[in-house]
Amino acid sequence: MSRRKARRRSFILIDDGFPQHPAVMAAGPKASMLFLAAACWSASFRTDGHIPRVALRRLCAEADVVGAERLAERLLVAGLWSRSGEDYVMTARDLCRLPGSSKQRSALRRAWDAIAGRVRPVVLARDGYQCCACGATEGQLHVDHMVPIALGGGNELTNLQTLCRPCNLRKGANAWTG
Ligand SMILES: [Zn+2]
Repeated sequence: MSRRKARRRSFILIDDGFPQHPAVMAAGPKASMLFLAAACWSASFRTDGHIPRVALRRLCAEADVVGAERLAERLLVAGLWSRSGEDYVMTARDLCRLPGSSKQRSALRRAWDAIAGRVRPVVLARDGYQCCACGATEGQLHVDHMVPIALGGGNELTNLQTLCRPCNLRKGANAWTG
């Protein structure tokens, strides 16, 4: 391309464990390619992970809209993306880092909190519907942030675990008492 680009070049940072990450493997190769294409697009347009629905078809290797939305759905189920109204937003920031301001990132963090429920079924299934601390399968199961959001933890699958209610409450109490 000979035309000089007005924007600065930028780079995204991909975890070298990306291909083996459970969420990436769950999404499959086509959806993972869409994830990377969308990450590059977001970096170049400085959207900090927000992928407008209208951009989806253009980003997608699939020619048709139905195919594109099917791939997007795989990313949602895998917890790599979440919904933001009509649009999508990248959630797997442990796997893929984008350039962007810290203000934008803290807004995104709040959005993560709002959509944490979306990754819940993925975490429960991965952990075999069992408490990771005591092995309980009965009663209410919670999805717990191993590193709390307040301490910089996110909704990455690697930071989430299944806990039964008593274990989660016990952990919560310990966090408060140090
Ligand atoms: Zn337990």
